[in-house]
Amino acid sequence: MSDVDNGEGLSTYRQLIDGQDTEARSGKTYRSTDPYTGAPWARVPDGSAADIDLAVSAARRALDGPWGRLTGTARGELLWRFADVLAQEAPALAELEVRDGGKLLREMSGQMASLPAYYRYYAGLADKVEGSVIPGDKPDYLVYTRHEPVGVVGAITPWNSPLLLLTWKLAAGLAAGCTFVIKPSDHTPVSTLAFARLFARAGFPPGVVNVVTGWGPETGAALAAHPGVDRIAFTGSTATGVKVGQAATANLTRFSLELGGKSAQVVFQDADLDAAANGVVAGVFAATGQTCLAGSRLLVHESVADDLVRRVTERAATIRLGDPRDPATEMGPVSNEEQYRKVLSYFDAARAEGATIAHGAEPAAELGGFFVRPTVLTGVSAGMRVVDEEIFGPVLTVQTFKDEDEAVAAANGTPYGLAGSVWTKDVHRAHRVAARLKAGTVWVNAYRAVAPHVPFGGMGASGVGRENGIEAVRDFTETKAVWVELTGNTRDPFTLG
Ligand code: NAD
Repeated sequence: MSDVDNGEGLSTYRQLIDGQDTEARSGKTYRSTDPYTGAPWARVPDGSAADIDLAVSAARRALDGPWGRLTGTARGELLWRFADVLAQEAPALAELEVRDGGKLLREMSGQMASLPAYYRYYAGLADKVEGSVIPGDKPDYLVYTRHEPVGVVGAITPWNSPLLLLTWKLAAGLAAGCTFVIKPSDHTPVSTLAFARLFARAGFPPGVVNVVTGWGPETGAALAAHPGVDRIAFTGSTATGVKVGQAATANLTRFSLELGGKSAQVVFQDADLDAAANGVVAGVFAATGQTCLAGSRLLVHESVADDLVRRVTERAATIRLGDPRDPATEMGPVSNEEQYRKVLSYFDAARAEGATIAHGAEPAAELGGFFVRPTVLTGVSAGMRVVDEEIFGPVLTVQTFKDEDEAVAAANGTPYGLAGSVWTKDVHRAHRVAARLKAGTVWVNAYRAVAPHVPFGGMGASGVGRENGIEAVRDFTETKAVWVELTGNTRDPFTLG
């Protein structure tokens, strides 16, 4: 990587293939935009299928080379060392994520500081991917299982939290012994290019972690469809995830998909309304609503609806919009122009569908860039686009319910199933409703907590598979059963087993 001014005032970055700083084979580049200013700030290679080919070959060689011969303990030591390097570089990486993605420095600083814990967690697991000796009815055989690295992993990531969502794949996959080709979002390629260089500093051999930048439908599609890739780990929209899954299936490549959501925050009449209002604000306005797990649908008992909506709306009105680098800012811009236009189109849809605008639903034009106001929509119902579709912006819809069954039915009335919350002081109801929600994650009297040791992923249209937690390492392995004949006798060749 070089970080030099190339004469246009832009920082220039290169791909990482086989440990080498690499231009795109085509020689083409493109410019990455700072969403706060709306102006280009960096130039990156416009990689293509040819670059993906090179990177997959490099990842295969690394798998067959010294990396593939390391013990789990040695891989764990490297991951631990990487965590140390990452901890030193976290502030610089946070700056890059803010520059490229427009999220708050206060959020991204915390997020980058949390990353080393993932590598340490999986460092500890790297030599605990144990097989088992299987007893049974065949005393003449010793049967055991081995969990071998699945091989070359193609990781495709979105723009909203590039390094966190990459880490959810990389830490477990490296612990399992895999190698990676990463295709970051075309909107936010820079932090991944800088981050990948840190593996060499920690002592990882070349080719274990490779990065190719470029556009989704070309470069991402080439990675998803590459026959040399053994597993795809994708995070992004449901529409793209379906395409990626289909491309992988054509090669019988294994895959995991972390996709979109339309998660419900269910607030009962006995809830602590101050805490619930705060959780609702955190769920949908933090990160400008640009998180897969955004709690974008508020379902509230009719008896406390007015009170809660008043609290949420009052807080929404005081959210400080501004420079993402300013520690006082609470909400930054939408991350890119395409997404900004999409959010504005939902404001139009809300009006056209007859929603009541309790707050917002307009651009914050005085700030320029891609700013929109935090938005609260009441008077909505299932069937309206703002209720049914993932907006991926700071837009909350509010619906009321009369009883628990109605609340659960409304919460589950979506093809998505990523996350949700229950706000109540009744311990019986809390667990009962948590069990009934169709979601990969349910928080009780909380929202928006994630950790290395806790599985994360979606049901239904929110995805396939889970990231994080102990099981995630296994998900980057193939299980092999080994049968050892113990008697040394000759067997009847025409009978089974
Ligand atoms: P996206 O689907 O547009 O892009 C995701 C990645 O796929 C990018 O790297 C993109 O370049 C690439 N891509 C695009 N078309 C492709 C194709 N045809 N083949 C292969 N790759 C292709 O998503 P986005 O707009 O970057 O991210 C926002 C979406 O991600 C939202 O729907 C959000 O809910 C979801 N998301 C999910 C999670 C989760 O963990 N479940 C986390 C964050 C974001």
